[in-house]
Amino acid sequence: MVIYPDYYCNKVTDITLELLEKNQIKGILLDVDNTLIDFDRNLVEGAKEWIDKIKQNGIRCMILSNSNKQDKVKAVATELDLPYIYFATKPLKRGFRKAKEQMGLQGENMAVVGDQIFTDIVGANRNKMFSILVNPLAKKDIWVTKWKRPLEEMIVKSYVKKQKKKEE
Ligand SMILES: [Mg+2]
Repeated sequence: MVIYPDYYCNKVTDITLELLEKNQIKGILLDVDNTLIDFDRNLVEGAKEWIDKIKQNGIRCMILSNSNKQDKVKAVATELDLPYIYFATKPLKRGFRKAKEQMGLQGENMAVVGDQIFTDIVGANRNKMFSILVNPLAKKDIWVTKWKRPLEEMIVKSYVKKQKKKEE
């Protein structure tokens, strides 16, 4: 289903090379707010090392953020040495298409990592990319996100339940 992620974990650095290789991923699109940085703009611990390891294994990474604050997105991109697209209007196809062109990859060889179902996950699924949901880093959120969170939590719970049933 379009609202369910292909994979769910706590944070971005939990994503393993094995998972990416098993799913033929050659490029990753990373969300910024609550995925790479928290509300106070602190990078998630180990982000740089994680990205370097991914890149050393021939998997490309790029930032795809809905934020319209270019200075913020650019600061993260510079720190992690990544190309970036800001104001990406996820889940619309525009930003995903641009990222695909810049990476020169097919959607099926790309993964999207983000903390929001209605932007990151729905966008990834609609573009036939491998969708990875992470828990949001910060609880302090802007009000629009806050309004969506209870619904997202419900979806995540039902997804986890389903996965458990599958494993039984
Ligand atoms: Mg986010």
